Amino acid sequence: MADRERIPNLSKSRFMAGLQCHKRLYLALYQAGLAEAPGPGQQAILDQGTQVGVLARGYVPGGVLIDEDSTLHDAAMAHTRQALADAALPALYEAAFAHDEVAVRVDLLLRAGGNAFDVIEVKSSTQVKEEHLWDLAIQAHVLEGAGLEVRNYAVLHINRDYVYPGGEHDLRQLFALAGVSDAVRGLVPRVPELLAAMREPLWAVEPPPVDTGDHCHAPYDCPFIAHCHAGGPEHPVGELPRAGKALRNSLANDGIGAVPEIPADYPGLTDLHARVREAVVSGQPYHDPAIGAVLRSLEHPLHFLDFETINPAVPLYPGTRPYDQIPFQWSLHRLDAGGAMSHSEFLHDGPDDPRPHFTAALVEALGERGRCASTTTSRPRSSGPCSRSFPTTPRPSRASWRGWSTCCRRCASTSTTRSSTARSP
Ligand code: SF4
Repeated sequence: MADRERIPNLSKSRFMAGLQCHKRLYLALYQAGLAEAPGPGQQAILDQGTQVGVLARGYVPGGVLIDEDSTLHDAAMAHTRQALADAALPALYEAAFAHDEVAVRVDLLLRAGGNAFDVIEVKSSTQVKEEHLWDLAIQAHVLEGAGLEVRNYAVLHINRDYVYPGGEHDLRQLFALAGVSDAVRGLVPRVPELLAAMREPLWAVEPPPVDTGDHCHAPYDCPFIAHCHAGGPEHPVGELPRAGKALRNSLANDGIGAVPEIPADYPGLTDLHARVREAVVSGQPYHDPAIGAVLRSLEHPLHFLDFETINPAVPLYPGTRPYDQIPFQWSLHRLDAGGAMSHSEFLHDGPDDPRPHFTAALVEALGERGRCASTTTSRPRSSGPCSRSFPTTPRPSRASWRGWSTCCRRCASTSTTRSSTARSP
């Protein structure tokens, strides 16, 4: 017997939440306060998605924006009906529809001849992903259920090959249109069953019992991760670096949720996993016996570099492509042979391209001698564009860029310049 008299209507984003996890949908509807607010990085990604969505309207110019927000869906639908009746309007942005107690907004709705329309979903990614097809499948369920004749479904995504020449962006080059009608129509018959399955737990007063797992991060990081992990082990198996799906599934099937519970001879553990397990079980940090010799062999001064980049979907600087890494800030600690430590830093402040300023300041700070260690994952990729784009900028000496990394799991896992004897847990 149902515990509630009614349940809330769904929307496109709620459907996508339910597709990821029924508990996520339940919490989003009834206990939204348990969600973690997006951090600055996540918020920047969300804001970028909004920026791309607004820019994409220029891809089909001359349309009208249905500007009522999501709390005014009935008014938005009335506005949509009015715009649909005006045959002179070539497109609607954020058109609103409802059917089967699901409300959706359509990014771009284009007249396609006669009474038919094309539906375009705008994404800031550089390719079509499976979740985008589901995004359109729930729209198709609603639009066609509401009586709209749809000719084509498509995803408008960022074109990674576009090179920004400066000035106004050429939206026909910045975006790429991918037709996905067949794939979407193949999913639509499954939507009613999926809706029924995700609605069923919503009648209960307790969230459905769903274990955490890979689905908490795919296709999106769930905002309830902290809530669902509360009270869990101090060292969950998720701390094992670079643990593959087979190992994670095997541990889950064996009921092993914490690193100390893993037997030392557990199948599938790598040497790195074994070191991590040993450090957790013993409570002692791991020191590679070879690391002393490696450190003593390095030429001073030693430079410890960290730096930050942006990778905008919509290129900001001529000559760059969408999502190019643009370094704009660095921090450098310098350790002299005598043990003296000093620090210098750079932060670009201005509307112009930060890369020539960044590189020139860093080259000067590094000097001609010593070795450089970086804990960032992005140096190999981001220094490349700097070198290519600014061939006249002085470069650091080969020795100082050769680099080494011993300091953390992050750099050990990603550095392309790692010493073969310098490993970290
Ligand atoms: S953290 Fe995982 S289990 Fe919890 S609601 Fe989110 S997706 Fe579901």
